[in-house]
Formats: sequence, structure tokens, C-alpha cells
Amino acid sequence: MNITVENLDVSYSDKEVLKDINFHINTGEIVTIIGPNGSGKSTLIKAVSRCLKFSRGNVFLDKNNIKQIDTKEIAKKLAVLPQVKNVSSDISVEELVSYGRYPHLNFGKRLSKEDNEIVSWAIEKTGLENMRKRLVCTLSGGERQRAWIAMSLAQKPQILILDEPTTYLDISYQLEVLELIKELNNTLGITVVMVLHDLNQASRYSDKIMVINRGKLSEFDIPDKIINKSMLKNIFGIDADIYEDEINKCPYFIPKKTIA
Ligand code: ADP
Ligand code: MG
Repeated sequence: MNITVENLDVSYSDKEVLKDINFHINTGEIVTIIGPNGSGKSTLIKAVSRCLKFSRGNVFLDKNNIKQIDTKEIAKKLAVLPQVKNVSSDISVEELVSYGRYPHLNFGKRLSKEDNEIVSWAIEKTGLENMRKRLVCTLSGGERQRAWIAMSLAQKPQILILDEPTTYLDISYQLEVLELIKELNNTLGITVVMVLHDLNQASRYSDKIMVINRGKLSEFDIPDKIINKSMLKNIFGIDADIYEDEINKCPYFIPKKTIA
């Protein structure tokens, strides 16, 4: 499923946060949004997933305008892993993952055999079989993040949107989560849109990178075209040397010093 955003403006009360955003994401792509703190990345994700009303513009999933799709239908197509999660973690992995089935249930209906099979499938896909009865609050950071991803998967989405899925995880769990996302994209063809702060990881795991700066889309292209000295200087104010990662076939950089 593809995503098209046209002339999108988003404001919080009278404060304009996103201005005239336009882009198209192809089915099956992994797109990472990067940009300084407060530039509007989370706001963009919320607008695209209709968690936030926007003042101007349109968002299409395939050819369907999200203003004309009801909330439950959106949740069947698109799963969002927000930066801040409001659900209590005082429940088991299995229960959490089963929440992913709610958009598919008719009002008041219980999980069917098929729903339970999908829950098990999502738990299996994320390698959580031996933790399915554990309380989410007893899991490590990486396991917990996998449980949230499993819940999103149980929605059986065609688009998976993740806001900083690796933040607060140590490097080993960061890679574990990114590898899992990549595998899900590969094997299930899910379109992935995520926000990452680690630009070298963005380079390595993305088909394309979108740069958001002060509420505007400044660049959107393949990592080779985005990760360069001038972008790092203009957007993040850092000086860096750029290298080619021969193993992963993507650019990476080593920051030198902060520009005054
Ligand atoms: P990012 O995710 O890139 O760090 P956000 O999209 O969270 O940035 O925020 C963009 C801007 O919008 C920031 O200036 C932030 O303070 C402001 N903002 C975010 N959420 C709200 C809100 N609910 N009400 C008012 N301003 C907000
Ligand atoms: Mg954010």
C-alpha cells in the first residue's frame, strides 16, 4: 500500500508546525524520517495516521483519501507504534498483542479462532513464543519493543509506522528491532515509515530518507543522496567525514566537531 501526501499543513492551535508537505511513498519501501528535535517528525506521523487533524492538504492510502475512510478501516490498513505508549504494561504479552485484533472485531465480539491464530503468528514472527504469558512490565526494553511490534503486526497492516522504535534501547536491541522491521518488510511486503535519530542506522536500513527541518520537507531521496557533508552541516550543524560502508552498501559518517 502506498502513501501520498499533498500540500499538508498542520497547526497546534495557532502555531503552525508543518508547512506544505508533499511526498509519495511506494508500496514496500522503508522510509525513515530524520530531523532535529521539534522539527515536526512526530506531528507528520500523527497527521498521516489521522491521529491529528490537519488544517490543509490531503493524505491518500493508495488512492483513498483518509478523510473518507473510517477509523476502524484505517486501523486495518495502518498500524502505528507511537513514541509514548498509553496502554498499561501490567498485562501479558499475549493480551497486549491481542489488542491488535480489536479493529477487526465487530462491536462486543470476542476473539475468534482466526484472531487467536493471528495473535500467535505475530508472537512467533517477533520471537516472543516463550514469553507470551509474561507481563509486559517484566520484559527487557528490546523484548518490550518487540511485543509492541507484535501488537501492530496483529493488526495485519499493510503500512507500519514507528516513531523512534529504538530510542532508549542499547545498541544490541536497536539492531534487533531494526533487523526485525527489515525482515517484516522483506517477508510481508509491509510499507514502513519510521523516525530514527541515529542517522547511520537510517542510512543502513532505509530505501529512502526524508529530512524534516523546521516544519518543512527539505529532502527526500535514497541514502546515497541524503547522507552528505552539506546536509549534516545545514540540518544538524555538525561537521563530518563521509565514508562508504562496503558491507551494507550505504554511506556512513563520523562526526568531527560541533560547528559554533
Ligand atoms: P519532533 O517529533 O520532530 O521532535 P514534534 O512533531 O513532536 O517534533 O513537534 C513539533 C513542534 O510542535 C514542536 O515545536 C513542539 O513543541 C510542537 N508540538 C508538538 N505537540 C504539540 C501539542 N500537542 N501542542 C502544541 N505544540 C505541540
Ligand atoms: Mg518526535
